[in-house]
Amino acid sequence: MSKIVVLGGAESGVGAAVLAKVKGFDVFLSDNGQIKDEYARTLREWDIPFEQGGHTREHLLDADEVIKSPGIPSTAPLVREFAAQGTHIVSEIEFASRYDSAKKICITGSNGKTTTTSLIHYLLKEAGLNVGLGGNIGKSYALQVATEQHDYYVLEISSFQLDDTYDFRPDIAIITNITPDHLDRYDHNMENYVRAKFKITRNLRPEDCFIFDSDDAITIEHLSKIVLHCKMLPFSQEKKVEQGAYLDGNRIVVRYEQSESEIYLRELALSGRHNIYNSMAAAIAAKVTGIEDTTIREALGSFAPIEHRLEPVLSVRDVLYINDSKATNVDSAWYALECQTRPVVWIAGGTDKGNDYSVLNDLVREKVKAIVCLGVDNRKIHEAFAPIVGEEMIADTDSAEEAVKVSSMIAKPGDVVLLSPCCASFDLFQNYEDRGRKFKMAVRKL
Ligand code: ADP
Repeated sequence: MSKIVVLGGAESGVGAAVLAKVKGFDVFLSDNGQIKDEYARTLREWDIPFEQGGHTREHLLDADEVIKSPGIPSTAPLVREFAAQGTHIVSEIEFASRYDSAKKICITGSNGKTTTTSLIHYLLKEAGLNVGLGGNIGKSYALQVATEQHDYYVLEISSFQLDDTYDFRPDIAIITNITPDHLDRYDHNMENYVRAKFKITRNLRPEDCFIFDSDDAITIEHLSKIVLHCKMLPFSQEKKVEQGAYLDGNRIVVRYEQSESEIYLRELALSGRHNIYNSMAAAIAAKVTGIEDTTIREALGSFAPIEHRLEPVLSVRDVLYINDSKATNVDSAWYALECQTRPVVWIAGGTDKGNDYSVLNDLVREKVKAIVCLGVDNRKIHEAFAPIVGEEMIADTDSAEEAVKVSSMIAKPGDVVLLSPCCASFDLFQNYEDRGRKFKMAVRKL
């Protein structure tokens, strides 16, 4: 029996271990940190041996194949050792796709992955298709392949997950956009990061589709250097496209093969320019899948906003509080500010990932009346924006509760208080969800 070693005992690794077990492999899972109780329970239920708190090399190095969780970098010593001895290392999605013949719509990109993935999943469900949702969202893809039966999968795929793929092939591949983020994992080399994202396209066949943002300079530049043998379906807000989707005044036009359909912007459930892009990508994917135009329009109109992504929380004394805690980089905060139509009290800050705030200058000048910093070290925000809003209009806070309280004192009826931090959250919170939840709790207490 061949032996599979799974590295990492969270959602992805545990799902892969269960699938390997179901497929009759000798499986061993190893995690050098602590495995959460729920995952340890699943491993025991499936009778899968595992270790945590360290790797025992002699239990591992005789593996025939290794499934590596996306959180583990390829530079980890054990991973290097496997590579040096020539052991094949694959990601969970590579492994799982060997056992799955469902049609796959796979989404990667720098921003908008979760939104676009959720939208497409919702569109397919509304059309009555048997569809699974996975990848970085919810249940792992491998666990679903092991225990469920779907005709379609909509998978959110990070570039980390694409790193160890070889034969993995989506039927529809989507790159939402490419902007610098997570560059640390790619030796601060943009070319490596772009190539990692484009791995999603590399096995596409002529009958498969590639959906991409043709307004995105980095995407277009890379496309000029490679050859893809598949149907190219761009979306654009700047120019007409023959196939794909484009903005024509106040409507989106979607064209696929001989068919053309339209969706009015006012019908879209999600607001903001970035969500026009996400809605376009989703509409193309749905049309390619054969979903009727009326269903696509209705579903794009009834989709509920996702938590922590421009999520309206509550209006208190005619001040609307918006939770966009997921905006952990400058680009996503740009879109959040861009779509505001009322004066903004902007809550920003956290762990700075080497941000260049200058791209926000015009929007801040136009829309932001005050900034409430929510972070341990807010110097860069002060430096960037004091010349624009005035030093006296920037406050420092170090808890969600205080940030909300200070914002509520500054905001006047008709204003918006927007949490869109453009930074990671780890200085004060467990993660962006924790930050968003604490923000919402504080708003509800006002
Ligand atoms: P991801 O899964 O790629 O991190 P999300 O859909 O969770 O993306 O959105 C993350 C943040 O980026 C949110 O704050 C959202 O407002 C913003 N955003 C969503 N879609 C886009 C887009 N197409 N372009 C730029 N920013 C976006």
